[in-house]
Amino acid sequence: MKYFGFEPSAAEPAEIYLFRWPAGYKEFMRKHYPQFFSGPACVFREDGKLVIAIRASRRKTQQNLRHELTHVVLASNLSRVPPWVDEGLAQYFEPGPEPGTVDAKWLREVRKNFQLDTMPSVYELIVKRPAQEFDRRWYRASWSLVHFIVDRDGVDVLVRYARMIGAGEQEGVAFARCFNESPPSMDAAWRKYAFSLEPGPP
Ligand SMILES: [Zn+2]
Repeated sequence: MKYFGFEPSAAEPAEIYLFRWPAGYKEFMRKHYPQFFSGPACVFREDGKLVIAIRASRRKTQQNLRHELTHVVLASNLSRVPPWVDEGLAQYFEPGPEPGTVDAKWLREVRKNFQLDTMPSVYELIVKRPAQEFDRRWYRASWSLVHFIVDRDGVDVLVRYARMIGAGEQEGVAFARCFNESPPSMDAAWRKYAFSLEPGPP
């Protein structure tokens, strides 16, 4: 199966650890990846193999797997993945079963943030990356913006953008060359899209 036009990479050993209860997960993470401090799932490398750890119910486990595996595919094909593209695409695949399925709750959150004027702008997402850990609002904004771009322009443009950033191009320049518009002009189109989107499978 091809993802984003990438060929599957050579088989790489991977271990997946599933936890039903928080205590076991916390203990595992403390031992294996102590720099990670929150979130129900994590992917990292240890002794030359890939480790995916997930703490969730059965339904959520599949969602988290889709999310973490998207990070794996992106990281193994691109030298640098801008955080909003990385988390945006991971969430694009997360709800499933179809890519791009719109989670009704996420959509409500996005619309509320637009209405309250608390939504990060495209400029904030691409240029002024928050220094600390990303909050929920930032995650949903990345999801919603990526959903809009994939729907309007296709996923390839995001890959092209990430490649330019990986080659050392400045964010604003790469953005203008890939999307042919300024961040503020995309803000308006993105907002309109968020209010026209229907929850459910695409
Ligand atoms: Zn993620």
